[in-house]
Amino acid sequence: MSSPPKLSNDCFALPPGVHWTPVDETLTSLRERVSVVTGIEPAPTVAAGGRVLAADVVAKRNSPPYANSAVDGYGFAFASLGGEGAQSLPLAHGRAAAGGPFNGVVPVGQALRILTGAIVPEGIDTIVLEEDVIIEDDVLKFAMGLRKGANVRPKGEDVSAGGHVLSAGRILQPQDLGLLAAVGVDTIQVRKRLRVAVLSTGDELRQVGEDIASHQIYDANRPMLLDLIRRWGMEPVDLGHVRDDAKIVEQMLTRGAREADVILTSGGASAGDEDHISAALQASGTLNLWRVAVKPGRPLALAMWGGVPVFGLPGNPVAAFVTALIFARPTLLELSGAGWAEPRAMHLPAAFSKNKKPGRREYLRAKMDANGHAEVFKSEGSGRISGLTWAEGLVELMDEGREIVEGVPVRFYPFSEFGL
Ligand code: AMP
Ligand code: MG
Repeated sequence: MSSPPKLSNDCFALPPGVHWTPVDETLTSLRERVSVVTGIEPAPTVAAGGRVLAADVVAKRNSPPYANSAVDGYGFAFASLGGEGAQSLPLAHGRAAAGGPFNGVVPVGQALRILTGAIVPEGIDTIVLEEDVIIEDDVLKFAMGLRKGANVRPKGEDVSAGGHVLSAGRILQPQDLGLLAAVGVDTIQVRKRLRVAVLSTGDELRQVGEDIASHQIYDANRPMLLDLIRRWGMEPVDLGHVRDDAKIVEQMLTRGAREADVILTSGGASAGDEDHISAALQASGTLNLWRVAVKPGRPLALAMWGGVPVFGLPGNPVAAFVTALIFARPTLLELSGAGWAEPRAMHLPAAFSKNKKPGRREYLRAKMDANGHAEVFKSEGSGRISGLTWAEGLVELMDEGREIVEGVPVRFYPFSEFGL
């Protein structure tokens, strides 16, 4: 199986002189710069939930494969019926059931017992529901009021053999597996899972469960980012956390480049002295700090290391989470073969008021209240990680300044729009 081409080392370069990049431009730039990096492998349909389809799929079989009954009832030729009013047809011997076909021909003027899912036997084109009839002395009686073809599901009505059923890039949903099985597709070509390495950086970090000193904090970003990756159907590769030491950071990036298709780091991504991710990536000659006009979030550090893209997220957990949803997710989906995907906003009346300054986009931790209004977390403090847990989505305030008063519509993304 051929591997897709690697990204080039200068793929994240921005034109010179660019300062604060608006969110939309950042997304467009990212989208232009990345492409699928995962290989292709076969997978049994039954085990392919959540995988990314690598090729379009066509039906191997009609669905339904033969005309069948939609109900339990009685079938006959429509031509057997006479005008308006009461109908009566003698019953033919036997019956048609799902998995138990009736092999004869039903003569015009007679009716046959037929059950849901049964192949419609020759001679039948219309079926009356059993609740709508009475049987007296082996004669079927009912009132007219049926159209020709009633309660018959025609062959191939849903999907015809050779017809397109699913497109490459689709992340397979439970119902897709049902459809694939119905049309006889037992094996499909899927993308190998995108391997995403996650590395935390900072002298102050300890892993939860470890002994900790008062000047240290637990690494909150790594468990959060690793689980996001898992939820997105990708394969997390845990690189642990490293001290702010350029050499150690470099070693870990090299390991990440060996074990993963892309590396997500958090912390150390601005230009400060202690920002060793920036320093290490600088050494690769490919670092670009994208100063995105977004709150929360500081620069995104983008670079290539050992042939794989590195996505440097801010250290602050709220900023790391929001920038992972807004910037990393569509990028990772594109790399994975699922294709670029941005969330779709709902418009909800604000349950808050705020004077939003112009110049950058803001994401507020939010949820829909009992009245269907968008409520925001009591604090915009970006260190308040509990607000992410309180929230059920994000309110997006666009780049321009805006006086928001209660009741005006605001853009709300439920977390489900980010694949959560
Ligand atoms: P930095 O981007 O490294 O300057 O970090 C910004 C803020 O986020 C600092 O207060 C860090 O202590 C904090 N921070 C960085 N990484 C993590 C992490 N993995 N978990 C929790 N907080 C972090
Ligand atoms: Mg740091």
